[in-house]
Amino acid sequence: MIEQRRVLKTAIPGPKSQELHQRKLASVSTGVSTGLPIYVESGQDGILRDVDGNQLIDFGSGIAVTSVGNGNQRIIDAVQKQIADFTHTCFMVTPYEEYVEVCEELNKRTPGSHEKRTALFNSGAEAVENAVKVARHYTGKDAIVAFDHAYHGRTNLTLAMTAKNMPYKHKFGPFASELYRVPMAYPYRWPGGEKHCEAEAFSYITDQIHAQIGEENTAAVIIEPIQGEGGFIVPPPGFLPALAQWCRDHDILFIADEVQSGFCRSGDWFAVDHEEVVPDIIVTAKGIAGGMPLSGITGRADIMDTIHGGGLGGTYGGNPVACAAALASIETMEADDLAGRAREIEAILKGRLGELSEKYEQVGEVRGRGAMIAMELVEDRVTKAPAAALTGAINKACHERGLVTLTCGTLGNVFRFLPPLTISDDLLNEGMDILGEAFAASL
Ligand SMILES: *Cc1c(COP(=O)(O)O)cnc(C)c1O
Repeated sequence: MIEQRRVLKTAIPGPKSQELHQRKLASVSTGVSTGLPIYVESGQDGILRDVDGNQLIDFGSGIAVTSVGNGNQRIIDAVQKQIADFTHTCFMVTPYEEYVEVCEELNKRTPGSHEKRTALFNSGAEAVENAVKVARHYTGKDAIVAFDHAYHGRTNLTLAMTAKNMPYKHKFGPFASELYRVPMAYPYRWPGGEKHCEAEAFSYITDQIHAQIGEENTAAVIIEPIQGEGGFIVPPPGFLPALAQWCRDHDILFIADEVQSGFCRSGDWFAVDHEEVVPDIIVTAKGIAGGMPLSGITGRADIMDTIHGGGLGGTYGGNPVACAAALASIETMEADDLAGRAREIEAILKGRLGELSEKYEQVGEVRGRGAMIAMELVEDRVTKAPAAALTGAINKACHERGLVTLTCGTLGNVFRFLPPLTISDDLLNEGMDILGEAFAASL
């Protein structure tokens, strides 16, 4: 057991981490960079312990992955048992129950009471790619529409949908074709003002698809119901339901990429649940399996079952150890009501960030849902010029004080908070105290 408190024994990063980092620099490609080079030795719930014995407060969950807490005992038990039984057969060669059970759980828990089918993969990007494959196959159409500020992964096809150049796309093209981008309903920065964002964004986007692509050429619209890497952008109420309905009216599939927002992170099982939107296909990964690599696409049975045998799959997709972890993770979320806990975390974080917002004009907006909360930083509230340098400085100051924080945003000026859902109130509040200190020290 690791005591749930912050401990600083050395400067961050400490000498042992620095030594490991020298080995990293000599052995790992520069392309794979690290946000905070403390080398982790163990973790539990809201704490990560490094090789120097420092205990850091985790506000990142490995990017919304360890939602059930670092070192969750149910996950450890399930993984250990599964590893002892067997580690791999390839589901396409000789199947096993765990894969089927994860698909049953996904079919049951994803939005909509209609008949569904699921396929499992390894990473979020791989699942998104497969959602695109299925949409094109089913509709017989080519065009895929994604959004400004979108993040869908780093493979060639998903990079074509990802919006941000640096660091993701820069010099990695050419990218896959028939991927189109439309503006995002981004209330804080909508040119016509927040009040008009929903209506104006909806008509702008649908007009653009009509005029520039054609509904009859459009296979699918793919959207993150709360955008992740792009800045935790929450579209205005009514936008997602209207868009989903418009897609239905034009035989265009509505795909929700819930890789980051799914699995209780937003305070409900899925972010689309807040507005009762039912996607044709929903993409899941990150929080699904407590840190084991697993992803899935779950869709209407009539769509998913048009694919010929052998059309979907992969050597490792739905690996039994990852599936066992997913089942333990789902059980934990239900038994411990982690969606409810995410809503409590929202109340605490929004309360504390509200205080910062009253104190500092650089806090442009606090937004998000559940344990997926962000603070967008600006030079001032009139121009809303993005304060990327300040964001970076505060992030660094948090790290030095033993708080693992992440930034995001196409403009690099958004602080995001993604604590494990099992983190204590004390650690949440201590993390917020540290953020306040880091803010004051960085101005
Ligand atoms: C992280 C992420 C992905 C990509 O997942 P990987 O497992 O890193 O490939 C796709 N979509 C969203 C919304 C994400 O947050």
